[in-house]
Amino acid sequence: LKYCHEQRVPVVPQGGNTGMVGGSVPHRGDEVVLSLSRMNKIHSFDPTNAVIQCQSGCILDNLNEYLRPYGYVMPLDLGSSGSCQIGGNVATNAGGIRFLRYGSLRSNILGLKVVLANGDTIDLLNTLRKDNTGYDLKHLFIGSEGTLGVITDVCVATPMLLANSVTALLGLDYYEDAVAALSAARNKLGESIAAIEYWDSASMRISSTTQLGLGDCRFYLLVEVASNMNLESLEDRMMDFLGMYSKGVLATDEGKKKSLWKLRENIPLALKGMNGHTYKYDVSMSPHLFNQATLMVQHHLAAEYPHAQVFQYGHLADGNLHLNIWSPTFDQEIKNLAESTLYEFLRLHRGSISAEHGIGVLKAKHLNVSKSEKAIATMRNLKFLFDPYNILNPNKVLN
Ligand SMILES: Cc1cc2nc3c(=O)[nH]c(=O)nc-3n(C[C@H](O)[C@H](O)[C@H](O)COP(=O)(O)OP(=O)(O)OC[C@H]3O[C@@H](n4cnc5c(N)ncnc54)[C@H](O)[C@@H]3O)c2cc1C
Repeated sequence: LKYCHEQRVPVVPQGGNTGMVGGSVPHRGDEVVLSLSRMNKIHSFDPTNAVIQCQSGCILDNLNEYLRPYGYVMPLDLGSSGSCQIGGNVATNAGGIRFLRYGSLRSNILGLKVVLANGDTIDLLNTLRKDNTGYDLKHLFIGSEGTLGVITDVCVATPMLLANSVTALLGLDYYEDAVAALSAARNKLGESIAAIEYWDSASMRISSTTQLGLGDCRFYLLVEVASNMNLESLEDRMMDFLGMYSKGVLATDEGKKKSLWKLRENIPLALKGMNGHTYKYDVSMSPHLFNQATLMVQHHLAAEYPHAQVFQYGHLADGNLHLNIWSPTFDQEIKNLAESTLYEFLRLHRGSISAEHGIGVLKAKHLNVSKSEKAIATMRNLKFLFDPYNILNPNKVLN
């Protein structure tokens, strides 16, 4: 980095290269790709403090494997866990299916070591749970997508591995019922809720042909509880919740739980498998707005592009909608219309154009939908302070 800084050579930090917005991909053609893959040492795990310290190139699955014998897990889980790296996770502040239970990755990072654009190292490798000594600099690098520094080491607070879990799938006819089920789940299941995932009938059709005995439903909600309480008590709790609905299935054994989760996990894979092009949007808004946003995009597309299909799924309780549009071939006009409709909706409702995937290169020009002019100007000032020659991931996040 020192050399590249002196020679003004652009550098693209790259982790597992699983990012969804092109942040780890060289874009101009003159960049050095800096792979972190070989920085994959786990330094230590302190069971008294439940903190793991490791290099940033460690693959997420490997960290979970390492922690299992101690009875702990990483506080995040993603579909890409077999190849994404903890450094990439930190650089994107990744979300995923444990967000509801353990909060953002940001809130579980205790310390970082970062190499700046000029080659200087800042050691912020704290393992303390509490530390209020002035500006908390690590937060600038979390979610900075390789534009402010290269993360080389991390300290992560880890939650305990829970012994038992029960999964349920609800079929619902009205969107309002899905939103009401969120509050009902909080009331009935309380602190044992581990995940609440959601998808619509269009997503279900491409994800599975299996008959679940739920009949035709317009919306589906997957609810999981996990705890160290005994399995029977956990099951009773879930049954109490499920009893409020006419269409639901319960899974306690591993095979059935996996098959319910597969319905959700298959959706992006099924979209990928359809011949054609998928336009992917990962947005944040209040959960009661998901269906309204989807219907609005659908309505705008229907008149001119009847072949376009719209799918909604996501992390309902986190307010994170994955809105996907499919068309037989890529069409810039569809993209433009979908984006102008969706982003105007987000602007109106103070939503976010990126819930968990980041900005990268794909969303940089839309940053002003979710950030004010002054906020973007402050971001530019910070970028200049850390990287005056703009060598770190140029044109990413801020274009
Ligand atoms: C099947 C699948 C499922 C996914 N599910 C989710 C999900 O549920 N939630 C979610 O949030 N994301 C998800 N993702 C997106 C992706 O896995 C995450 O963004 C992940 O955190 C990226 O990690 P990575 O190591 O692959 O980083 P990369 O893709 O290599 O890089 C991502 C960004 O971070 C920067 N970067 C990488 N390493 C460093 C470093 N050490 N220091 C500084 N900058 C660095 C890069 O320059 C780039 O800007 C999914 C992706 C796939 C393919």
